[in-house]
Amino acid sequence: MQPGELDAALAALDARAERRHRVALAGPQGPEIVIDGRRYLNFSSNDYLGLAGHPRLVEAAAAGARAWGVGSGASALVTGHFEVQRQAERALAGFAGCEAALLLESGYAANLAAIPALVGRGDTVFADRLNHASLNDGCLLSRARLCRFRHNDPDHLEYLLKRTPANARLIAVDAVYSMDGDEAPLARLAELAERYDAWLYLDDAHGFGVLGDGRGSMVEQGVGGERILYMATLGKAAGVGGAFLAGNRRLIDWLANRARPYVFSTAQPPLLAAALLASLELIAGEPWRRARLASLAARLAQHCHTRPLALKTSRTAIHPLIIGDNLQTLNMSRRLREAGIWVPAIRPPTVAPGSARLRISLCAAHRDEDLTRLIEALDSLVA
Ligand SMILES: *Cc1c(COP(=O)(O)O)cnc(C)c1O
Repeated sequence: MQPGELDAALAALDARAERRHRVALAGPQGPEIVIDGRRYLNFSSNDYLGLAGHPRLVEAAAAGARAWGVGSGASALVTGHFEVQRQAERALAGFAGCEAALLLESGYAANLAAIPALVGRGDTVFADRLNHASLNDGCLLSRARLCRFRHNDPDHLEYLLKRTPANARLIAVDAVYSMDGDEAPLARLAELAERYDAWLYLDDAHGFGVLGDGRGSMVEQGVGGERILYMATLGKAAGVGGAFLAGNRRLIDWLANRARPYVFSTAQPPLLAAALLASLELIAGEPWRRARLASLAARLAQHCHTRPLALKTSRTAIHPLIIGDNLQTLNMSRRLREAGIWVPAIRPPTVAPGSARLRISLCAAHRDEDLTRLIEALDSLVA
């Protein structure tokens, strides 16, 4: 695109009903949000356990700022790594069932960090077709060949593994798919990684905190070993920000030395590690939050089942209502908003063309009457 083409490019987004407009919240993330002076029920957030604005996290972050300051001052390899971060990395590794962990700025940065540190030119990344964009970007940055397999189809993956000569191989998947809420068959993938001598990279952005008693998909599905690298974001269910990579000690040591977004970026503010330690206590110590998510999900599914509402149910907090057409989805989202309910219209390029959807995310802090209001508003859309 040339500088003079910007207006036309934005107009083209408008014409396809794909243009996004940011709104600014007037307070913390929670089951209710305030935008432009109006209060909305929030079914759009990835704050699945209701921890982002939790007083214990707020207090821990404030105490963390007093103890460690605000900025980290340098990359972790220079002097940006603090004792509280070392403690958080040990806690995260133990919780996710790994030997060691490395804190990064975001899940996006973690995916850009990990993949190019393990594979490069002449190697191949095998990626599920519905993988998150950041995994694809990590692959592009690595210069490895990107070979995509059919969604959640390990037989297709094996077919490709057999036919693709490569120096090194890496299988990359979302452990929980971000726009559908379905889960990858980790045991089968781990077996293929073993058989074809590949790395297995698991992005558990939506499983950590929610599945496996909060310890994530890898613990729940009982896989492990030296070829697996686990990644989870900390800005979703954990309610904080950043991400971590976890695996065996040598692997994490390699990444700390060679993962460029880790080496060449100023480390996370240490107060986030202090907040994260408080979050881990709540994730582990308050299982009622996951039970609450499950009961809300069951009620939503049961209701939609009796109506012409194509809800995709899942064991996670993600419950998309597949609509198809961009404009229709956008209009439905707008009508819900008029009823005081915030549900985002997810359109291309986040999902495939023709599969636009209302992505309903539940939160452990939603009350029964909140879900009742959502259900009534959905009913009025299809009445
Ligand atoms: C949100 C998300 C990321 C990016 O994580 P951030 O911490 O938000 O940068 C990566 N992978 C998946 C599957 C995600 O949903």
